[in-house]
Amino acid sequence: MRCLVTGGAGYVGSHVAQELLDRGHQVVVLDNFSTGHRKAIPVGAELREVDLGNVEETKYLLAKEKWDVVLHFAALSLVGDSMNDPCHYLKRNTETSLNLIQACVEGGVKKFIFSSTAALFGGENRVVPIPDDAGIEPGSPYGESKFFIERALKWADKIYGLKFACLRYFNAAGADIHGRLGEDHRPETHLIPLAIDAMLGRRPLLKIFGSDYPTNDGTCVRDYIHVNDLADAHIRSIDQLEHKSVTYNLGNGRGFSNLEIVRGIERVSGRSVPWEWGESRIGDPAVLIADSSRIRKETGWNPKYSSLDDIIGTALHWREKNPQGYNE
Ligand code: UDP
Repeated sequence: MRCLVTGGAGYVGSHVAQELLDRGHQVVVLDNFSTGHRKAIPVGAELREVDLGNVEETKYLLAKEKWDVVLHFAALSLVGDSMNDPCHYLKRNTETSLNLIQACVEGGVKKFIFSSTAALFGGENRVVPIPDDAGIEPGSPYGESKFFIERALKWADKIYGLKFACLRYFNAAGADIHGRLGEDHRPETHLIPLAIDAMLGRRPLLKIFGSDYPTNDGTCVRDYIHVNDLADAHIRSIDQLEHKSVTYNLGNGRGFSNLEIVRGIERVSGRSVPWEWGESRIGDPAVLIADSSRIRKETGWNPKYSSLDDIIGTALHWREKNPQGYNE
C-alpha cells in the first residue's frame, strides 16, 4: 500500500509509520513540525512538509499523488492547553481535519484512519470498561474536537463513501520494541515519561495529581497500551475498510493507578522515583479502562506488549539511550 501519514513525526504517528514500513508498505509522512521531530521520521519514509491548515496545498498533495490509505495523526493534543485556549483547539483541530477529509474525497481516497481518543469519555457515570458504543461526553475542548471529526467522518462516509476507522486510544505508552523511536513531547505532560525523567534525575520531583479519587489507592487509574500494539491495531483496521467503517476503543482492558505506575518504574529500573502529591488536574476522570472486545473479535488484534514491564521497559530503554530525546 501507498500510505500518507499525517503527523508522522509525532509519537504515535511515527511508530505507525515505522510499522507500515516494516511490513513493506510505502510511507509518506506529512508534518509541519509544530510539535513533531524530524528525527522521528522513520528511515525509508518520504516527507512532505505541508500544513493541513493550507487547504490548497493539502488538496494538491492528495490529488497529485495516489494514496491507498490516509492515516491522520496530526493534531493539537494537550488536554490542559485546550482548557486554556478552547476556541483555538476547536478551530485548529476541526479545520485541519476537514481540509484533509475534503482533500481525500476530491482526491479519490477510499480509506481513512483517524487517531481519536478516550478523552471522548469525560463523564464519571459510565460503565467500566468502556465499550465503543458508550455515551460520548468529552471532558475537554480537545476531546470535543476529536468527537466533531468522528462525526464529520460519518457524514463523509454517508455522502461520499469514504470508509474510516476511528481508533480511540486510551493511554498510549512505551517505545518501539527495537529501540528506534520513542516518546518526546515538548512540553511533556504524560505520567510515564515524566516519572522516568524524575527517576533519572532529569527533572525535579514528579507530582502525582490527586489522592482522593474513588479508587483503591486514591489515585487515578488508566489503561496503558503499548505503542507497537497500537500500530498493529491501525494496520489491522485498514483491512476492515473494504466495505464498512469502524470505531474501536483501544486499550488492554486493565487499569493501573498512578501509584502503581510509579512503583512499576521503580521495580523495572531498580531505582526510586522522587515524587510528591500535587493538586488534582481539572477534568481528569478517576478511571479510564477500555473494552476493546470489538477490535479483538473483528480483526484478531491481541496486544503483545501489554505487561507493565514491557511498557515501562521499552520507554526506559529509549530514554536512557536518548536522554535529550530527539534533541532538536
Ligand atoms: N499525572 C500525574 N502527574 C503528572 C502527569 C500525569 O499524576 O505529572 C496523572 C494524571 O493526572 C492522570 C495520569 O497520570 O491521572 C495519566 O495522565 P497522562 O497525562 O499521562 O494521560 P491522560 O490520562 O491524561 O491522557
